[in-house]
Amino acid sequence: ESFHDVDMGEIIMGNITLSRYTRPTPVQKHAIPIIKTKRDLMACAQTGSGKTAAFLLPVLSQIYTDGPGDALQAAKNSGQDNGRYGRRKQYPISLVLAPTRELALQIYDEARKFAYRSRVRPCVVYGGADIGQQIRDLERGCHLLVATPGRLVDMMERGKIGLDYCNYLVLDEADRMLDMGFEPQIRRIVEQDTMPHKGIRQTMMFSATFPKEIQILARDFLEDYIFLAV
Ligand code: AMP
Repeated sequence: ESFHDVDMGEIIMGNITLSRYTRPTPVQKHAIPIIKTKRDLMACAQTGSGKTAAFLLPVLSQIYTDGPGDALQAAKNSGQDNGRYGRRKQYPISLVLAPTRELALQIYDEARKFAYRSRVRPCVVYGGADIGQQIRDLERGCHLLVATPGRLVDMMERGKIGLDYCNYLVLDEADRMLDMGFEPQIRRIVEQDTMPHKGIRQTMMFSATFPKEIQILARDFLEDYIFLAV
């Protein structure tokens, strides 16, 4: 068992080595090949299982290999239509929703490690912190956005983020997000007209538990999904 069982491209393989991950954890071993085949995924996995890399590695690998004329280029072009650099709305290709600032920051740190020496620029936004600074960071470019739901809705309302090219959507710790009352914000984000529809985008949900409310969310957000429990 090694990360080399699935080809994720040179950049990712190099960054896995730099991060000193030698062996995939069980959730990584099973989720990475599923995500690489572009299937939607509902994964039940706990904190500490290595679930962050389980979605970041294949998603980043997919973004890198999508090639020219891809979402990266589309996002760049549409961003430039919005006016001069420094003012433009950002169109991330990938969005990761997380319940708390702490988790969002952890995912962002991991994303920076795996996006090292690539064209992909990760950003993070969360509530309870200066929004101006987060907006200035977004304006430098954002291909992979890690966000808490409330702050993302705020960014969308301010016209700073468009999800028109968001081909990869991850809901991390979905059960915790519902416990914290984020369902209206999550639905507002995922069910807006401009978001690529399910079956077009690839959607991955991670949750420690799989109660009725999560099953309903999976039914609404995922298309023909694979269920994984580790
Ligand atoms: P997570 O469950 O994604 O929050 O990861 C828990 C911790 O395990 C984090 O500190 C990761 O950096 C680390 N980790 C994840 N995958 C691996 C791996 N394959 N080898 C070594 N450490 C890992």
